[in-house]
Amino acid sequence: MYKVSFCEESDTVIRLHAEVLAGTHDCPFCRSREVGAWGQRSVTLLDMPRRGKRVEIVATARRLRCKNKGVCGKLFQQPLPDTSEHHNMTKRLRRWIGEQGRVRTFVAIARDLQIAEATVRQVFGDCIREIESAMRILPPTVLALVNVQVHQACRVAAVNAELGTLVGLVDKDEAAALSAYLADIYDRHKVGFVSLGPSGPALAAVELVLPDAVPFLDKPHVLGMVDRAVRGVRRTVRRDVTRQVRDKHLLDDGLILEQRLRDLSGEHLSALEMWRASFPALSDALEAAEGVRRIYDKDAGIRDGSDAADALAAAVGGLGGLCATHFQPLVSTLRAWRGPWSNYFTHAGARAGGLERLDDIQAIGTVLEELGRSHAFGAVRANLLLPPALPARSFSSRGVSISRLVAGAGVV
Ligand SMILES: [Zn+2]
Repeated sequence: MYKVSFCEESDTVIRLHAEVLAGTHDCPFCRSREVGAWGQRSVTLLDMPRRGKRVEIVATARRLRCKNKGVCGKLFQQPLPDTSEHHNMTKRLRRWIGEQGRVRTFVAIARDLQIAEATVRQVFGDCIREIESAMRILPPTVLALVNVQVHQACRVAAVNAELGTLVGLVDKDEAAALSAYLADIYDRHKVGFVSLGPSGPALAAVELVLPDAVPFLDKPHVLGMVDRAVRGVRRTVRRDVTRQVRDKHLLDDGLILEQRLRDLSGEHLSALEMWRASFPALSDALEAAEGVRRIYDKDAGIRDGSDAADALAAAVGGLGGLCATHFQPLVSTLRAWRGPWSNYFTHAGARAGGLERLDDIQAIGTVLEELGRSHAFGAVRANLLLPPALPARSFSSRGVSISRLVAGAGVV
């Protein structure tokens, strides 16, 4: 405990002069109880700000000398209670920085305390690591790594694909950052499958850190590429006709192109007939898309990568001109990703445990934009994944529900 002897206050600083109350102290080196006074020493500790002013405690601690002369005889200082000695601050200030860092910028906190932003960042990081060490996120059987666009940056959401929970957040789509994340997963050998988009760094990290897990190119990423190809064709077709033609003949084209043939209404089927005559690029795009989408139907009989490659070739092989150009990225990606793409079909666990859709996961980007307007990534990540303060005892978690996260932020 401290006993405050007097207090000075200026416009910006409150300075409390305090004495560390004496107790009996053993020598920390030899445990001898025979110790004697050896002067004193002042240490300035930072405490929580009050009334917008920086608070300093100038603590006077006694210096003591071990009297166990022949053996030890060392000098030491009376310990400072409730102090985070590493940073010369009180423990409650350290806790305060851990809490404030979640909701305010490090710059603002540093300004309040009149200390360097780097110190705030460091103390906050320590607090976060402490909370993390009390918490164990259980490893998913099927882990999905999904790139999430946030303003100019690309983050990677780590998702428990079976439960639809967020289990991690990586600040960059880079192999080093992803490897560090994967290496930190508790019981990581339990991860059996990793659902991926066509991201080279993610595949490299998985192969390096989780060599026994099966990486696979997941369905919604492939279907997303199909949608992009179709949209590209549509955009070009519409650009090359007059507004009158668009309004008369291309009314529901966007809607039609998203659908499976079996779901088209009578009206849409006659529109498709008309496209065959007047806008063959559109009908070709829809038929090619149908061929690729069909690969994922349960009754399509695709058993492995070679069945899938044959079906792909049948769907897009004959495309020419405009369609060929827009489907090219899909074709070359699937060719380059042949192994992980095959894994999806060969492994029942990948097929059953993969993702059905990406839009809810990608909506996390909007949540991150909201949370992260001025915050450091570490604080945003902590807000999403960690409890607000150090829990009383360690606990396990299966991650945070993505639908709740996204609904809570009013995104969906
Ligand atoms: Zn001693």
